[in-house]
Amino acid sequence: MGWMHTARFLTTAAQLHHLPPIEVPEIAFVGRSNAGKSTCINTLTQQKQLAFASKKPGRTQHINLFSLGRQGTTDAVLADLPGYGYAAVSRTDKQRWQQVMVNYLVSRKELTGIVLLCDPRLGLTELDEALLEVVRPRVEEGLKFLVLLTKADKLTRSEQAKVLSITKLQAGGGEVMLFSALKKQGVGEVAQLLWQWSHPAGVATSIPDAQVANASVVADGAIGQPQPPQS
Ligand code: GDP
Repeated sequence: MGWMHTARFLTTAAQLHHLPPIEVPEIAFVGRSNAGKSTCINTLTQQKQLAFASKKPGRTQHINLFSLGRQGTTDAVLADLPGYGYAAVSRTDKQRWQQVMVNYLVSRKELTGIVLLCDPRLGLTELDEALLEVVRPRVEEGLKFLVLLTKADKLTRSEQAKVLSITKLQAGGGEVMLFSALKKQGVGEVAQLLWQWSHPAGVATSIPDAQVANASVVADGAIGQPQPPQS
């Protein structure tokens, strides 16, 4: 779907209070490190490097925002949150990061939906379950939720069906879909769902890009002008 292909870098922040307030729906991508999150975002947006900017040194513990909407306007924002559970990260960094993430998930006003990416060969891990617990009250209040089982090409059809039904039981009312960047499985379905989440009345409420960019400058001064990702 063309809408996802309009994604472009908006801003990056290490702390929740450095994120600009934005008057459009925001959809967060979360998941364990190596779950396939960057590959998924790049596949959905049809841009080879977009989410890999999040893996650059200095950006790995940042929330990276991408604007969606036709040229010059933003009608939704994608938030790429750093992967969790990476063994090589120090305990202090892990704890700091978990706190930023919990704060974001609990209090980011703009948050409309969450996509939790999960390697189906591992299933939902303890950390994924903890995240589900954190967002449960907001999901009960209407926050949208999708568990995306990545790398589906690594499973047989029967394995796919099995993990889909198990995860549906665990996801407690959230949607669950299979996805493969390699085989382009689920790409259209996910794009369609995210569009519906962001446009509940079927119409886009968009704001000019300049307004969004200004918001990020005013936010704290800590971010400064949005920088395009280095390639
Ligand atoms: P992230 O850490 O969650 O951003 O994960 P990446 O997007 O970097 O992917 C982790 C690894 O999984 C990489 O080696 C990717 O090539 C691989 N991967 C990601 N998506 C797929 C997929 O759909 N199919 C297969 N076979 N491998 C994938």
